[in-house]
Amino acid sequence: MFVSILPRALAVRTSGSPTYHTKDVMITMWKTLSDLHPSLGSYEVIGKTVLNNDIWMFKIGNPNGARLMFDGSLHGTEDTGTEAEYLYAKWLLESGDAKANELVQKTYSFFIPVVNDQYDRKNGRDSSHPYPDGSTVNTNGIDLNRNFAYGWGSGFGSTDPVAWDYQGPFAASEPETQALRSVMQTYRPKIYVNFHVGGGHYGHYMGNVTLGQMIITKYNAFVQSNGVVNPLEVSGSASSSGSGTATSDAYFFGALAWVSETSDWTVLPDSYNEWVSNWYPQIRFLLQAMSESVAGTSSPPPPPPPPLGQIIVNAGGPYNAKPNSMIAFLGSVAGGNAPYSWAWSFGDGTSSQLQNPSKSYSVEGVYSASLTVTDSSGHTNSSITTASISSSIIPPLPPIQNYQTFLVASAVGTVSVLYYFSRRKRTRR
Ligand SMILES: [Zn+2]
Repeated sequence: MFVSILPRALAVRTSGSPTYHTKDVMITMWKTLSDLHPSLGSYEVIGKTVLNNDIWMFKIGNPNGARLMFDGSLHGTEDTGTEAEYLYAKWLLESGDAKANELVQKTYSFFIPVVNDQYDRKNGRDSSHPYPDGSTVNTNGIDLNRNFAYGWGSGFGSTDPVAWDYQGPFAASEPETQALRSVMQTYRPKIYVNFHVGGGHYGHYMGNVTLGQMIITKYNAFVQSNGVVNPLEVSGSASSSGSGTATSDAYFFGALAWVSETSDWTVLPDSYNEWVSNWYPQIRFLLQAMSESVAGTSSPPPPPPPPLGQIIVNAGGPYNAKPNSMIAFLGSVAGGNAPYSWAWSFGDGTSSQLQNPSKSYSVEGVYSASLTVTDSSGHTNSSITTASISSSIIPPLPPIQNYQTFLVASAVGTVSVLYYFSRRKRTRR
């Protein structure tokens, strides 16, 4: 029938706010925007979803600039992050605003607008979509924002496979989670933003408190000078981010990690136009404040291209888990010629020939795991990482400057900024 010949991109959305763009349309819009500015924009596939669709990452700005990373639709019905990032990228590239032009020269922004290709909170993993080792989970999907590795399994996510917040069978079990972890680890963004529901005026962060407060100060200045009435509410503490979340992993990899969402997750913006007029300006000011706050600062250099005829191997990690809990090891390689052969040695006498093997350790300790990769031309190289096995629920926090748990209340003009010790019940993420 007629409808069946429509490309998927034009299909009616099956869930979420129907006036928002479909995920396919958004990706097409992103590619078009990038293609119009080839000297400032590029994009690449960073992985596949459970349903084998590409996960795209768009890179905008100066490759030597300070790096920021933004995800979208980690929960598949929460598309405002996807929309906000696009409008922000368009502002950066096409507004002609002097500040936008400056930020494009001083920052390098990474946008992953569609992490979850489902129009569902969860990612579509079910018994007909097995893991690489053939095992299955009888579920209706996994909550990707409970599946990240840092602190996974400490109670923030559910162990019930049919629950809305099911954490998955082991840490970073899902390809979407692995793709995000991989780019976080490779590019080490200074700021990571994890968007939820409205992407509105409620948020929190973990990481560098000084930098976080600088961003809030800039945001408040924008609000006052532009007459936006909704204040930004911020809360934060190490534990409030939630273990197993995108922010917990971004924090682990050294980012100032933010969650952005509406103050009440039950109130969805009614329509795209309403969201653009009422909510997007605030998000834009917040993203601009983030970019301004790191612009011109130095970032660790991007991974160098491998010398001709050589390959560079990355064993990922460091990994942390409880005894007998599965770890998703991430192997990657740059240079050389496919196909590659993979040889893991896990430090406990076991090994694997998979690129991304999963395994557990039964005895506590710190293990040295190595990955050796050989390409089709015989080039070979190795990488070593560690797996720390401890029965304590959350591994020790990585040393990050300026981190502290805090409680502050302050007021800037008419805008109140509140910080809380504990995660609010309304925060669903
Ligand atoms: Zn969410």
